[in-house]
Amino acid sequence: MTSVLTTPYAQLNLKRFPESANNSLQAFDAADEYLLQHLSSLQLSSNANCLVLNDSFGALAASLASHFTTTSSSDSFLAKTALYENLKRNHITQAVSFVPSNQSLTGNYDIVVIRIPKILSLLEEQLIRLQKHITKNTLIIAGGMIKHLPRTAGDLLEKYIGSVQASLAQKKARLLFCTPQTLTAANSPYPTHYYAAHLKQKLINHAGIFCREDLDIGTRAFLPFLPKNLGIINAADLGCGNGVLGISLALLNPEAKLTLIDESFMAVQSAQDNWKQLFPTREARIYACDGLANEAEHSFDLVICNPPFHQQQVIGDFLAKRMFKQAQTALKQGGELWIVGNRHLGYHQQLKNYFADVQLIGSTAKFVILKAVKA
Ligand code: SAM
Repeated sequence: MTSVLTTPYAQLNLKRFPESANNSLQAFDAADEYLLQHLSSLQLSSNANCLVLNDSFGALAASLASHFTTTSSSDSFLAKTALYENLKRNHITQAVSFVPSNQSLTGNYDIVVIRIPKILSLLEEQLIRLQKHITKNTLIIAGGMIKHLPRTAGDLLEKYIGSVQASLAQKKARLLFCTPQTLTAANSPYPTHYYAAHLKQKLINHAGIFCREDLDIGTRAFLPFLPKNLGIINAADLGCGNGVLGISLALLNPEAKLTLIDESFMAVQSAQDNWKQLFPTREARIYACDGLANEAEHSFDLVICNPPFHQQQVIGDFLAKRMFKQAQTALKQGGELWIVGNRHLGYHQQLKNYFADVQLIGSTAKFVILKAVKA
């Protein structure tokens, strides 16, 4: 669905990416509107360098692009795609640079607009990196919907940037005004590590990634059922996180050619680092993308997946369903999609929409491991 965002900066037609079947979900919220209204009430120079952190679908950066030199940075390939599609949709020709959150920012910013992300370790890492790119005159405003704005977010802003003052609530959104102080440059606690006993290896986990502190229980349930000794095959780990499933599959299948894909840049960085630790000389393709969107049809013998159950703050199986469909397209005839899922999610039924042959491979009290074969 296209929704219209009207602020003093612009009137924009915006779409989420990926588009949602749920028509009540729009590509911006009251926190975006509040941030833009507040910024427009200030006397800001049009020469200003503006940084937007964690813009969900580009509403903030696309609104500001024609008024300031704008850079957007987040951990999401989907958010990046939404931003550039929305710029194009609205014929905005001013360049907006995008910095994936695993890469360094450059230069100094006069204005920093922050959407508080769902995962606060990502915010912490972003604030630590930001310290080198602001001055005491930088205007820093964070915002979010009150139900997604924990007190800890304000604590992190105070700890790494400076004192924080909260706004009144407006349409269930709140802003946090942060005054930069000269604080000593912080050392990042990220990446963190946990020991994966089955790999006899500590895994590297960059800030913000799924299950950063320990192996996910779904992943743990999947591991004993991963197929082995399949010979020379093309296999993908779809939504790879830190790469634990793809790496485990690669160990069980020494001749397999692996592709690991995630939409989180920090996840991809973690998977690349972990792959290098375990396989210093073995090649693999590990990159950020919207699932298998860039892979050729009929190219994989095997896809394994522990599907995501939310996009940003929205919980649901829409991303999982898209992945099943993408896998169906990318698999060769006779190729197999193996997934793990919480039994109450009914993935068996979902898979049946794309694959005629769906089999139960294993189960635990909470999870099922399913195999779907492409006819
Ligand atoms: N495979 C890892 C594991 O088992 O620990 C992570 C599984 S986690 C449940 C799902 C992963 O899917 C997350 O890392 C998330 O970033 C990723 N993801 C969500 N949407 C995606 C998309 N459209 N394309 C690629 N990855 C996506």
